[in-house]
Amino acid sequence: MSDQHLKTPIAGLHHVTAISGPAQENLDFYTKALKTRLIKKTVNFDAPEMYHLYYGAQDARPGSVMTFFNREERGQGQAGAGAAQAFAYAVAPEDLPEWQSVLGGSLSTRFGAQVLSVTDPHGQAFELVAESGAGPWGVFHSVTLWIDDPDPTAAILTEVFGYAFIGEERGTGGRRLRYGLPGDAPGRVVDLWVADEAVKARPGPGTIHHVAFRARDTAHQSALREVLLARGERVTEVKDRQYFKAIYFREPGGVLFEIATDGPGFDIDEPMTQLGEGLKLPPQYEADRARIEAHLPALTVD
Ligand code: ZN
Repeated sequence: MSDQHLKTPIAGLHHVTAISGPAQENLDFYTKALKTRLIKKTVNFDAPEMYHLYYGAQDARPGSVMTFFNREERGQGQAGAGAAQAFAYAVAPEDLPEWQSVLGGSLSTRFGAQVLSVTDPHGQAFELVAESGAGPWGVFHSVTLWIDDPDPTAAILTEVFGYAFIGEERGTGGRRLRYGLPGDAPGRVVDLWVADEAVKARPGPGTIHHVAFRARDTAHQSALREVLLARGERVTEVKDRQYFKAIYFREPGGVLFEIATDGPGFDIDEPMTQLGEGLKLPPQYEADRARIEAHLPALTVD
């Protein structure tokens, strides 16, 4: 019987993946309004007829990577229980007013910090959280998971991933339970949102598809996988995502979790200075490049 408590904590968030509407509008918002860097232009490896666009901090560090499966239709998904509700960037407190003048949104206070809540053009909620000592622009502060029954999810966070309970706060329409990792890893906070009214998540543009946590290396990923399997979680085999190795499981609250490695990294198929410039396909699709490109909408990057 393996030890079900892992001694090495997870290293924060690796990336968050959401579903957007039309790719060009998504690209314009995340690069022009939000000023994150397009760090990879590829396709959904499980559905290569759609783009998969990656944005991040200038250095594309894990913990800053926001990705979208870009659908061209506008049918809206619905935020609700069983999915992540929002992702959040850390921002220097003095920069918050300027961001609000650019992005709009509403200000509130959460656990003593100012939070700007914004919605992107396709209905995706995200936040800017004021934090003194915030790193370079584009690094995550946290993610919020919308969960009906928080205890089983909290058990994964605390017993497997190494998070500690920080506190609970009442918000409009529900309560928020905060969990954090020791140290200063980017994206080291996870909030569980427990709403007063039952609303089920429905996938589609404007909703988060999965949340990827960061393993320290492949050995750590493998140890986490063993612990999760021993607890009865249904974890996938290790999948090669070209830029990282990934395992997936649906946590007890219904949110799809991924655990990803830092390596090989986003510069495996183009230099750091040129990230996002070319359409990058994994080896299994290269033979099909002409047909895949013909079916993708043209994108203007300027
Ligand atoms: Zn992922």
